[in-house]
Order: sequence, then C-alpha cells, then structure tokens
Amino acid sequence: MSDGVYAALARPQILTNCNAAIFVNSQDVLVVDAHSKPSAAAALIAQIKKEITTKPVRYLVNTHFHWDHTQGDAAYKANGAKVDIIASGTTKRLMTQLSRNRLKESLDGVPKQIDDVQARLGKATSAADKERYTDLLRQLKAYQAEMNSYTLELPTITFAKSHVIKDPAGDLHIEFHGRAHTAGDVVVFSPQRRVVAAGDVIIGFLPNIADGYPRPWPATISSVGQLAFDHIIPGHGRVQHDRARMTQMRNYIEELTARVEEGKKVGKPLAELQQTLTMGSIKTMQDGGYGSYVAENLENFTVYLGQKTAVEDRLAANIEAIYKNLDRA
Ligand SMILES: [Zn+2]
Repeated sequence: MSDGVYAALARPQILTNCNAAIFVNSQDVLVVDAHSKPSAAAALIAQIKKEITTKPVRYLVNTHFHWDHTQGDAAYKANGAKVDIIASGTTKRLMTQLSRNRLKESLDGVPKQIDDVQARLGKATSAADKERYTDLLRQLKAYQAEMNSYTLELPTITFAKSHVIKDPAGDLHIEFHGRAHTAGDVVVFSPQRRVVAAGDVIIGFLPNIADGYPRPWPATISSVGQLAFDHIIPGHGRVQHDRARMTQMRNYIEELTARVEEGKKVGKPLAELQQTLTMGSIKTMQDGGYGSYVAENLENFTVYLGQKTAVEDRLAANIEAIYKNLDRA
C-alpha cells in the first residue's frame, strides 16, 4: 500500500474484531486499534515481530471507546517495552464510564449465543456446517474464559483536536474531525505516506450508529476526506484506494437521516419506517453499487446467523438508531 504501512484485516469472528493499522516508524511502531481481547492483540504483536519488524510497538491508538477496538489494550501494556495509549479525551472519558459495562453486556450475551449455535449444530447435516458451528462454539467459550477477568487500560496520552508524532519515516497526525460513530472518534493520518486509518468513521460495512451522531457524521467524513491521502484503512472491511466508497457511505448516512427525520416529523412509528425504507427504496444504496459493496464486505468479514441478510438487519438497526439519536448533536 505505502512504505512501512500495513493493514491487518480481522478474520470473521462471532465476537467481532476490528482491523488494525500498523505504521512502522524509524525507531518504533504505532498500531491503530486493539481488537476485542488481549489474546487477539498478542497474536498481532507476535505477527508484527515475525513478519514486519523487530522494532518495539511504542504507541497504540484507540480510535474510539468500543470494546472491539480497546479490549486488547492490556496485551500492549504487557509487552515489556514502554507503550503509550493515545486517544481523544472524550474517548478516555467514555472508556472510564462505559467499558466495564459494555464488556459485561458482551459476556451476558454469550450463553444465549452458545445455545443458538448449539441448536444449529444439532440440526447441521453437512460436515462443513458442523465444522463451522463447532468453531463458533469454540470462539464463544474462549471469549468467555478469557474475558471473565479483565484489566481496563486507559489512554495515557489524550488531546482535544490533534496530537502529532514527528518521525523521519513519516509523521503521524492523530486527529478529531467531529462527532461521527461516537462522540470521540479520531483518525490517524500520515501526510508523507498518504494513508489514513479511519477507525469506524469510515468502514466497509454499513455504519454502526448505536452510539453515533447521524446529523454531524456526514460532515465529519467530508472533513477527513479533505486530508491528502490515497489509501484508507477502515476499522472494518476492505482497504479503500480512493474516495468512492467513503463518499457513498457519507451520502447513505445523510439520505437515511433525512428520510427518518421526515417520517418521524409526520408521526410515523419506527416499525413503519423499517418496513418502507428498504434496500430498494434508498437511493444511495444503489449509487455506484454501494449496497452490493457493503453486502460483499459483510459476507467476507462477519459471521451472520440471522433470518434475513446481514445488510437488511443492519439497515433496520441504522433506522432505529437514527430514530433514537436524531437530535444528538
Ligand atoms: Zn468497530
């Protein structure tokens, strides 16, 4: 992609992991985002050492507070060398307030997921399905076993707008461009290497708006788009080599927000909006094949066990989140 920059794309797991971006500096390494558990982060640290460089990981950026980007932080702290965790002040506050509870929610959901997968395994007929469900069970039990004890590591360097690390191999600008997926998302931009690691502000899936800000999010993407980069390493899904998918995502959030707002204004209930705002009726889903693009990313990078399709479920969740969060500013 660019000299000394690597994207580690997360394999599909029933408990989602984020992608990581790796920037090799002249003396050390900066990693963007830490997966959902320390063992996954430790595996990446070992892989960096084996396949990329023996320079130590000196910096870890948490792009936002979500569990699939921060729960592996402890592995970086346990790695021997000094490591600073960098995040916005808002992300540090949200981690302090919410991380333990979000972990608990994810653990509380596991027994039901185990039951679901167990039931599917019981009905599975092909060897491939049996193998698949057995592996999902293993993932769920491993998560439960590992995360029952957990040390929350908080960011050690925080900032409001921007934090710059100067380096002869390429500077790193860690920047807040406005509210989007959460109140405190940051991106990591290297002007010399023309790469931006965008966290979940820009992803290959449909956005996750549950903690998001539907009104300001499009402008935040536009602001990130002003940076001089050629490649985007998103928090989930494939690396992007132009601004087309980023723009489609931006326009989708804008259209869906406007249409949910319109419906809400005339008193339509959420369920009705979820019936009428469909893949086919949302214009920006068709633009440039955006809907097919996100479907392909979800197919390849997530585990879906629902009744419809992963995109349809996420669209319904987006409508609900916008309906609830419309007036967050
Ligand atoms: Zn994420």
